Formats: sequence, structure tokens, C-alpha cells
Amino acid sequence: MTFKELNLAPALLRAVEEQGYEIPTPIQQQAIPSALEGRDVMGRAPTGTGKTAAFMLPTMQRLQGRDGGVRALVLCPTRELAMQVAEAGRDYAKYSELWVGVVYGGVSLDRETRDLRAGFDIMVATPGRLIDHIERGNVDLSNLEVLVLDEADRMLDMGFRPQIDQILRNVPKKRQTLFFSATMPNSVKSLAYDILNDPVTVEAAPQVTTAEGVAQFVYPVDARKKTDLLLHLLKDPELSSSIVFVRTKFSADRVAGQLSRAGIKVEALHGDRNMVQRGRALESFRSGEVQVLVATDVAQRGLDVDGISHVINFDAPSDPEGYVHRVGRTARAGETGVAITFMAGGEVGDVAAIEHLLGRRIPRVNVEGFSFFVEEPVVEGAPPAPPVKRETKSEAKKAQRLTRGRRMGTRTGELSAEELEAILQVS
Ligand code: AMP
Repeated sequence: MTFKELNLAPALLRAVEEQGYEIPTPIQQQAIPSALEGRDVMGRAPTGTGKTAAFMLPTMQRLQGRDGGVRALVLCPTRELAMQVAEAGRDYAKYSELWVGVVYGGVSLDRETRDLRAGFDIMVATPGRLIDHIERGNVDLSNLEVLVLDEADRMLDMGFRPQIDQILRNVPKKRQTLFFSATMPNSVKSLAYDILNDPVTVEAAPQVTTAEGVAQFVYPVDARKKTDLLLHLLKDPELSSSIVFVRTKFSADRVAGQLSRAGIKVEALHGDRNMVQRGRALESFRSGEVQVLVATDVAQRGLDVDGISHVINFDAPSDPEGYVHRVGRTARAGETGVAITFMAGGEVGDVAAIEHLLGRRIPRVNVEGFSFFVEEPVVEGAPPAPPVKRETKSEAKKAQRLTRGRRMGTRTGELSAEELEAILQVS
């Protein structure tokens, strides 16, 4: 399917072509036709799937050639995402007479107020800052036609539900709502249920997946040698543009400091850095001036930087889904990339949880002098190991029952004759 077949306006087709997009991504193919019909959409799509164009293009098509103040609002969880979405929006609107504006916390309210008065057709905003503007009477959403929630799960994780509810009270009930979330826990479903009207459901990919082009490896490492291993790996010129994820702000600054002292061009990105510092860090990483970005999970989702060669999990993510988001920073839209996860003794369980979620084992790479133990199978160099078949639910249950039976040394009453025999054989 081509973009033309999606029946987009020539001005939008031209902009998309200029972006170098040839075919619509699966989420675009699914979402755009329904959104163009005016239907509500509930999309399960992580960043990197082309979801921004999936909601921006039909929204722009709908708004073309008509005035009337802010007619589309895109809510985003973070400033970084808001900036990116607005930037993408401006690219897509290049040949349409539509103004895309963005408001987010951390910058001068006055300047934003001036911009707002100048008038936007499409407004991209973080919830807290938007409420500031609503309360100051700087923005009128009464003509809103399209409401987009981007990364709804992340907004809820960040505690924005009350703000979202407040914003909903300021927008017309009769509107189109496009709702995107990488994951669909109950809190997200309940929000979707509350705000969507008979939505079409679209899905970018199965719930848990990591980009196909990403080669993934786990490096067992002595916890005290993580920085040394990182420095060792960074000697490789292939690691031209890497994001290093750490668990805390403190580690982000510490690791960035250590790399910097070793002569590596590095920036840290975390929640304690102010807007200007974050913007500068991202910009110098984007431009290639800085080789390494050390980030906490603030930067985990929504960070759209082209050409990231490596994602390095210096610390394993605290939840397995976080792994999928982090790894999604590389190999965007069909490129290739590498994801490396350091595994110290205390992180074996975290890695096991990730592998369980992915349904396969990630190959290990032992680098001599750094590993805390040598684990089989050892992969020298890179070729990924064949995927390991995931236990089916019934197999897993059976194994569980067997161990339980074994541990207790008794039969549990639920065991079949065959299972009982197995237990008798081992005990
Ligand atoms: P998103 O998921 O919206 O953050 O998009 C991820 C990346 O894919 C961005 O760099 C987009 O510019 C790019 N992209 C979006 N749609 C397409 C497409 N149809 N073909 C190629 N790249 C695309």
C-alpha cells in the first residue's frame, strides 16, 4: 500500500515524500483510513512504529483549509516527546496552511503565551503546562475537533490522570479522539473506555516485541567493572552514537563524569537537568558532536534520534517492559542496531524476567577480564543464538507442579499418573 492509496491530500503527500517515507508503516496503514473516516482510534503502538504520522496526517487532512483557533490537541507525557511530535508535525504540515504549536513545562510562560495568542491550529502539549494556560485563559479549546493522546500509558504512569480529566472538561464532547499507548494495562483501558466513542482498534505489533533489526546481547559483568567494560566497548568505533541507560540520576552523572575523564564526548540526560540542559544534551547528541548520551528512564520512551547505533543497558531496567522501550531507541524504522545489556550478579533475575517476557533467550557475550562468571553458551563476537522455545503455559504449570511435588515429597492431589511416576522416578 502506498501513501497515495490512503487518499491523503497532495500537500500532505508531498511532505511525506520529502521525509523519504515510501510506504506507510503497519500502524499508519491501519489507523489512517479509519481516522480519515472520522472514527475514534485506539492504537497499541510504541514509539518507532510511525505512530506520529499515523495520527498527524489524518488530523491535518481534516483541518485543512478551515480556520477557528486550536482545532487539534495532542497530549504528550514529556517535553522531549512534545518537542519531537511538534517537530514532526511541522514537517508534515510544511505544504499545508496549518500552524503547529507546542507548550511544555520548564520554559517561560510569557513567551508561550505570546505564541499562543498568535494562534495555532494544532497544539502539542504536556498536560501540566496546558492546564496552566487554560487557567490563565490563554487558550480556548472550545472549537477542538480532534484530541490525540500520545503515550497514554506513560502519562498515567506519571500521574497525569487528574490533569487529563481536567483538560477533558475543557474540550467539546463531540470530537474525534485518537488514543495511542505502547502498553494496555487496566488503567489505560479504563481511560480509553472513558474517552473513546466506539473506537477502531489498531495494533502496530504484538504487545511485546523488540525491533527486528536489533541484535541483542547480554554481557555478564562484575558489578564493580561495569564502567571499565563500558570504556572497553566504547573503544570500538562502531559505537558511534550510543545511549547508555542507568537506573539513577546519581549514576547518570557519575558514569558521564567517568567517561568524560576518559576523553569521551558525553552528555547526561535525566530529570534533574533543567530544560536548557536537556535540550542542549539532546541537540549535541543529535548533531553527532557527542558520542554517548547517559540517560535515566526519563529518556527511555519517545526519544527520537535517528542513527543510534547502540543501546547499552548499563543497569538492567527495573521492569521488563522498560527493556522493550529502551531497545526501541535503536533500529528505528527499519535500520539496524545493537542492544547490549550488562548483567551483574544482582541482575540475573532482571535479565531472566526480560527473557521471559520476550519468550527467548538473549545470547551472552563474555569479555575476558570483566565477566563475573562464565555462562554457557558463550558467544564470541556476535552471532545471535537460535531462539529458545518458550514453555507453553501447560508445560510451565506441569513443571511447577512437579517441582512442588518434589519439594514437598508428597503428591499434591492434582497430579496425573504420568506426573506421579515422574516424581517417583526423581525422588
Ligand atoms: P514515530 O513512531 O512516530 O516516533 O516514528 C519513528 C520514526 O519513523 C521517525 O523517525 C519517523 O520519521 C519515521 N517514519 C514514520 N513513518 C515512516 C514511514 N512510513 N516510512 C519510513 N519512516 C517513517
